[in-house]
Amino acid sequence: IKPVHIIGGGLAGSEAAWQLASMGVPVVLHEMRPDAISPAHKTKALAELVCSNSFRSDDAETNAVGLLHQEMRALGSLIMASADAHQVPAGGALAVDRDAFAEAVTATLEAHPLITIVREEVTVLPPEEWGQTIIATGPLTSDALAQAVHGLTGEGALAFFDAIAPIVHADSIDRSIVWAQSRYDKAGPGGTGADYLNCPLTEEQYNTFIDALLAGEKTDFREFEKDTPYFNACLPIEVMAERGRETLRFGPMKPVGLTNPNNPNVKPHAIVQLRQDNAAATLFNIVGFQTKLKYGEQARILRLIPGLENAEFARLGGLHRNTFLNSPRLLDNTLRLKALPRLRFAGQITGCEGYVESAAIGLIAGRYAAAEAQNVTLPQPPSTTAIGALVEYITGGHVSVDEDETSGEEQAGVSARPSSFQPMNVNFGLFPPLTEPLRSEDGKRLRGSAKAVARKKALTTRARKDLAGWLEAL
Ligand code: FAD
Repeated sequence: IKPVHIIGGGLAGSEAAWQLASMGVPVVLHEMRPDAISPAHKTKALAELVCSNSFRSDDAETNAVGLLHQEMRALGSLIMASADAHQVPAGGALAVDRDAFAEAVTATLEAHPLITIVREEVTVLPPEEWGQTIIATGPLTSDALAQAVHGLTGEGALAFFDAIAPIVHADSIDRSIVWAQSRYDKAGPGGTGADYLNCPLTEEQYNTFIDALLAGEKTDFREFEKDTPYFNACLPIEVMAERGRETLRFGPMKPVGLTNPNNPNVKPHAIVQLRQDNAAATLFNIVGFQTKLKYGEQARILRLIPGLENAEFARLGGLHRNTFLNSPRLLDNTLRLKALPRLRFAGQITGCEGYVESAAIGLIAGRYAAAEAQNVTLPQPPSTTAIGALVEYITGGHVSVDEDETSGEEQAGVSARPSSFQPMNVNFGLFPPLTEPLRSEDGKRLRGSAKAVARKKALTTRARKDLAGWLEAL
């Protein structure tokens, strides 16, 4: 069998190489370190963990990432086997000795007779004679290759930044000031027409807010982020304010299509919208409010917004270098580039987020590539499993581009919409909803936290059953 080439020996590339070789398919793995090195990597080890040493929760009953661990173990993951072998105590989380972990992955791949590791930076699109190639070069893909991919996918299809809007705890929002309404009362798929919380600003409040934004202390871009062009769809709010005092009023703060029921005769000068961020509706993100303001400044300035005076933040906003494709638009459901199917993508560059998710997408990309090399069809993992839900999110599942252009927003439980595609950790919001109502043992309908736990358990039970069925069919 012709070898499959893999570019990038990080979490995803290493797992993909292992899966291919385990299926009897030879692999040539191209890794640029140590000759060229990303700003976050420090060693030449494959699968280096660039920041924390945690693979997050290992609870497979009530946590989506714990379930993903379990599924990957069932699929013979090298990343999970090496993590399990080099665990350090971390309560319910799976944390590892980072050096021992990466050395174990490196040694295993180096020793495999079907794997050849070439230490070189790939700076151009893979030549045709390579045939099937997996690109797994991660969030810090080297510039030359990023430019080559950009040239292939076109403007706007490859993002260079991950923009994070702040997230507020719902119970810290002042409901006597904000009101629930979607613009023009529009009910998108699954919506009610009252899906957003709206904070009204008078002209004076708007001006105070803009002044604070302009004066607020910003985080400097790190050296490697400076040269990276802004992705126009995610300009920080302070950059928009610098472009003109009215820019935000024509952008995320536009006061159109909304009526304040507390003061129906006075049109707000500007409006800040909050969108539900989790299924339990305990968290809301501030729509379009990505920012590079320093954390302390952010909290102070955002609390100038009427209704958010006492806001508690679950996450503050940020903007960091992250190269990722608009995958729902560009990739087919087996992660191949539609425009050039000999190229398949894996890992964080596909728009998943996190070590575990990147490795999981490497795993499934390796399996798809092995099936293709062996002329067999690998059925899609069920979308009720963690790995299947993640693939479905990335590849855009059933949502067509046309649909997206008319409805605009994304919502939990539905595959990513191309225009608003953002990197995502695995979470239960990506799973199809349960079809049966949840009841206690004595047949009563569950409520509150008992219902939330029962829901997670029901989702993970369904996932285990469906994964077992899929594996059996293979
Ligand atoms: P990587 O692990 O980055 O692997 C990509 C590999 O490709 C690297 O080895 C690189 O050297 C190589 N490469 C790049 N370009 C080329 C080229 N042209 N030719 C050959 N080789 C190339 N996730 C978490 O879960 N926890 C965290 O704490 C965390 N911290 C992060 C901190 C930073 C600064 C960044 C950027 C990301 C962080 N992430 C974190 C997110 C993400 O999960 C990791 O970046 C993860 O390593 C992604 O896996 P990957 O395999 O897609 O990419």
